[in-house]
Amino acid sequence: MSFAELGLSEKVLTAVTAAGYSTPTPIQAQAIPHVLARKDVLGIAQTGTGKTAAFTLPMLTILETGRARARMPRTLILEPTRELAAQVEENFTRYGVNQKLSVALLIGGVSFGDQDAKITRGVDVLIATPGRLLDHVERGKLLLTGVELLVIDEADRMLDMGFIPDIERICKLVPFTRQTLFFTATMPPEITRISEQFLHNPVRVEVSRPATAAATITQRLIASNPQDFEKRETLRKLIKGATDLQNAIVFCNRKRDVATLHKSLLRHGFPAVALHGDMDQYARMAALESFRTGENPILVASDVAARGLDIPAVSHVFNFDVPTHAEDYVHRIGRTGRAGREGASFTIVTRHDDKLVAAIEKLTGQTIAFEGPGLDALPPGEAREERRGKRDDKRSSARGRGRGERDGKRRDHGEAEAAPAVEAVEERREARRQRSRHEAEPIRPGTPERKERGERRRNRDEDDGPQVKGLGDHVPAFLLRPVRIG
Ligand code: AMP
Repeated sequence: MSFAELGLSEKVLTAVTAAGYSTPTPIQAQAIPHVLARKDVLGIAQTGTGKTAAFTLPMLTILETGRARARMPRTLILEPTRELAAQVEENFTRYGVNQKLSVALLIGGVSFGDQDAKITRGVDVLIATPGRLLDHVERGKLLLTGVELLVIDEADRMLDMGFIPDIERICKLVPFTRQTLFFTATMPPEITRISEQFLHNPVRVEVSRPATAAATITQRLIASNPQDFEKRETLRKLIKGATDLQNAIVFCNRKRDVATLHKSLLRHGFPAVALHGDMDQYARMAALESFRTGENPILVASDVAARGLDIPAVSHVFNFDVPTHAEDYVHRIGRTGRAGREGASFTIVTRHDDKLVAAIEKLTGQTIAFEGPGLDALPPGEAREERRGKRDDKRSSARGRGRGERDGKRRDHGEAEAAPAVEAVEERREARRQRSRHEAEPIRPGTPERKERGERRRNRDEDDGPQVKGLGDHVPAFLLRPVRIG
């Protein structure tokens, strides 16, 4: 099957050839003719399968006829994250070179002014994250009644991030007669429900998970003690010892750990950048760019920030934490070994992670081997580990200082040993900063509905893991002591 057989316009075909693509990927071959026939499409495909071009190419062909009206976009694409939205925009720029279409990006972290001006002039393609889109609608600057085609991309991610109520609202604002394209990597029951609600007689196109890609990925577990400084040391050794490392993504489960680990890697002289939900749009873009160009070949990221990013040719993935959702493991390691390339993934595992590893092995149907000694080789007993950790901190920082003072030189080895104590202080500082930021967050006035939406918004893009209620598992011992009354 060639692109020419799919029914795309000449202008689009020329752009595809210029982009260097000769054969459509399976999702493109299956979806494009149906999109061009103006059918609703339910596409089950992950990023990395070419699904973005599966909707951008036929959209460009469809948009060649007709023109945009002020404040009334002709097509709307919803993306869960700013990065994904920006990538879709890049696709329109690349494949739309031979056309004069107006494309606008509505994402958070960028001023409303420029976005307003563009919408007022009229846009053919509006690419948006749900929250920012609704903000524009509420400001009365945007009408969705002219939308002929709606794309809901990464629907399962939207569900994870709590965006479905917003998507339901947006769907009520676009005409019922629109064409809808709905993409998701997985089909949990809630996604089946909303796909039935949003789509009319859809054509279902499905491409298998890139399980074949996994065949080119060497997967290993690395045993570590659970303290963060021990895990950081394990990671540094892994990075230093990795063969053929060109670039790597290091995944953490929580965004605050992304920031801490990033700082630690920098302190140890690793060329690293961070990507997490608390960074503003420009910082995120700059970080990604420096990773893409190889200026900083190590990217420390959280799942939410990294999901769906189009980063070709990553040689290594390091899981600093075992992901809490087994599916995230598949997404993470799918960053390497793309398009038949060799890749390697290393997951740092502590004795608390056995259930999570079991869930991953069940999902992937593969047993992942330990590189080096397994968890049994680590000294048993949490309390002992913690005491030892503290002792080591004191000793090593004293040693590091002593040497530094004696020979007045910066020593790599001494630095590395002294680092845990410094990092512990840094971690406490970071936690204090996080706390004071949350406490300082102003509560904006507004209608009850607005307030409720505000609450949800604050939770968006959060990747701090499940919320701990009360004291969680960490109830101080004195509270558990029996109390004598009278
Ligand atoms: P996506 O799944 O949309 O994130 O695309 C994954 C990668 O595949 C991107 O780098 C695209 O540029 C690339 N790509 C898309 N379509 C094709 C194609 N037909 N042939 C080769 N590469 C493609």
